[in-house]
Amino acid sequence: MSANAIEIRNLRKTYRGRRGEPAKEALKGVDLNIPAGSVFGLLGPNGAGKSTLINILAGLVIKTAGKVDIWGFDQDVNPRQSRAAIGVMPQELNLDPFFTPREALEVQAGLYGVPKSQRRSDEILALVGLEDKAEAYARTLSGGMRRRLLLAKALVHHPQVLVLDEPTAGVDIELRQMLWENVRRLNAEGMTIILTTHYLEEAEQMCDEIAIIDHGALVARDSTANLLARLDTRTMIISPEEPVAAPPAAEGIEVTARPDGALAMTYHAGRTSAEAVLAAVRDAGIRIRDVRTEQADLQDVFLDLTRSR
Ligand code: ADP
Ligand code: MG
Repeated sequence: MSANAIEIRNLRKTYRGRRGEPAKEALKGVDLNIPAGSVFGLLGPNGAGKSTLINILAGLVIKTAGKVDIWGFDQDVNPRQSRAAIGVMPQELNLDPFFTPREALEVQAGLYGVPKSQRRSDEILALVGLEDKAEAYARTLSGGMRRRLLLAKALVHHPQVLVLDEPTAGVDIELRQMLWENVRRLNAEGMTIILTTHYLEEAEQMCDEIAIIDHGALVARDSTANLLARLDTRTMIISPEEPVAAPPAAEGIEVTARPDGALAMTYHAGRTSAEAVLAAVRDAGIRIRDVRTEQADLQDVFLDLTRSR
């Protein structure tokens, strides 16, 4: 076993066009190593190819070309071992409505060949906070509970690598915290975690390393700290007391007027201080009614990365 939990070489996926639609090249030759023991973030906008990549790892989507090793097992040479090494919590809530949570875990364990004596369904249900719902009718489960159940299913065969596809998109705070607690605990126990997310802040808090994918190609791959250091763009939104006649102008600050009359002041925190931005506003004779800042989001990351290339 090498130091990488996952090794991906020249991975390509072209979806056949449905009903006269053109074929879609979702992955255009991705090379990626994911270190064992890490929490690894796969980021990218909608349609970038994140789920395609993850579903190929999970064996749910058949790759068009390339090589995928999971825990040292080539997916094509050792499909059973490579599949056993990975558990995936998918983005879609694809649960069988006729199983209770406990039954769903038992069925999943059966699919992965986990012997009855090694099954830990109740323990796993407790881990995700579903112990009270073990025998519930699936149709009575809320969206959040279904997500918990998907995480539980991904864990039944004790995989070395756990993959979470947009686990926190649209979930409430309690569930988000439960997910992150579990991610931290499982990682501390040695599990490699791969997750996709839209939320840069989340990636910042959770991930040791990050890859950014856009239009089916990798555009960045670095430690979270290095990546964020490259993204020190800040935007300060100034709402003026009166309409602004002459916008402020200062070295290192880009000013754009918003339709509501506010000024968006974009600057690099490493080179320009917030104080200097406010001073430029005051120097232009603008009285400030309100100030707020906008967090750099994934969009800024892309803009920044494509600008610097
Ligand atoms: P992401 O998870 O980053 O949002 P996806 O991997 O779901 O991206 O999709 C990547 C691209 O492939 C998108 O353009 C999407 O429309 C397309 N795609 C995904 N699944 C299919 C499919 N089953 N058939 C055809 N095109 C697909
Ligand atoms: Mg997706």
